[in-house]
Amino acid sequence: MSTDAYSIHSETHLVHRIGWLRAAVLGANDGIVSTASILVGVASSGAAHQPIILAGLAGLVAGAMSMAAGEYVSVSSQTDTEQADLAREKSELEVNWDNELEELATIYERRGLDPQTAHSVARQLMEKDALGAHARDELGITEVSTANPIQAALTSAATFTAGAALPLLAAVFTSGWIVTPVVTVVSLIVLAVLGALGAQTGGASLWKGAARVTFWGAAAMAVTAGVGALFGTVVG
Ligand SMILES: [Zn+2]
Repeated sequence: MSTDAYSIHSETHLVHRIGWLRAAVLGANDGIVSTASILVGVASSGAAHQPIILAGLAGLVAGAMSMAAGEYVSVSSQTDTEQADLAREKSELEVNWDNELEELATIYERRGLDPQTAHSVARQLMEKDALGAHARDELGITEVSTANPIQAALTSAATFTAGAALPLLAAVFTSGWIVTPVVTVVSLIVLAVLGALGAQTGGASLWKGAARVTFWGAAAMAVTAGVGALFGTVVG
């Protein structure tokens, strides 16, 4: 592979990887925040060790399944919309080739080509692959933007589970009054690291990214701990 081809490829792949990394970080964040909150909430009610672990495990499985379901449904409906758009475009090309040529040329003119070059580029690209050219330049549908619903669902469930496993393991290896502080500290440290990583992939400030995620994680755990303690007092 020549260096030019390689540099184009690595650029494309990097963009693809950043998108995937950001989704993974967000999935793991969700896993940590929701499972740690459940653990801290149940622990604060004064429950014994086993019910705490059981609640955390149930939260992990329920969260991973709902993330997978949500991702599958949203990516599938996006794919359905894209497929419908492509089918409409295909029939437009069959009945209205000249109009479609004008449309594509206008898109290239708006991007800065002179009318003659725009027409010639549009004609050549449409002769090579008319649907591909319109999908990419008119509808914005590219290989990178097209996600696989099953892959997206599995990735989302896996990253949620990976995140949730951390506070759960912290709870498994501790017991009594120490569960809440250990789960809280472990979760906040991991959230800060993930927040910084997420910010870095987006080119944003690491500190801001870390602070934002840590603040909301702490808030979620504080609220559930409060509810758990209240519940424990009222019902206990
Ligand atoms: Zn078109």
